[in-house]
Amino acid sequence: MEVKRLSLSEVDLTLAMHAVGLGNWHAKHPCCSRCGSATVSDLGGSVRVCVADSSQHYPRTDPAVIVLVKDSEDRILLGHQPIWPEKRFSTFAGFVEPGESFEECVSREVFEEAGVYCNDINYLASQAWPFPARRPLAGVD
Ligand SMILES: [Zn+2]
Repeated sequence: MEVKRLSLSEVDLTLAMHAVGLGNWHAKHPCCSRCGSATVSDLGGSVRVCVADSSQHYPRTDPAVIVLVKDSEDRILLGHQPIWPEKRFSTFAGFVEPGESFEECVSREVFEEAGVYCNDINYLASQAWPFPARRPLAGVD
């Protein structure tokens, strides 16, 4: 089987991520979370409206962090889950909990997963992630 690679411009990639994310959300949210009635797409697909109570429902986003932990000697700390194959390691990641800042999420996730307290948290970049939300990237020294 031949595999074709497709390259998209940054704008096209952003549009594609938005379309996939929105399409997934519409497919999984046909009913009102307040009353269970059907909802219909409105405002060009950016919102669903309940046919019974007119409540508006917006796509859920799940902010998350991916963290690279470094020490003062520029060494990195990676995690390993017991279910992973031997020699497979990864940076730390997790979802932001309600009422939590990104920095608090970074501290909590790194402590939960590695038992390490971190400080000097630096934001590096963000990326779209349509399955189902966005993930900011952060580095920790
Ligand atoms: Zn409703």
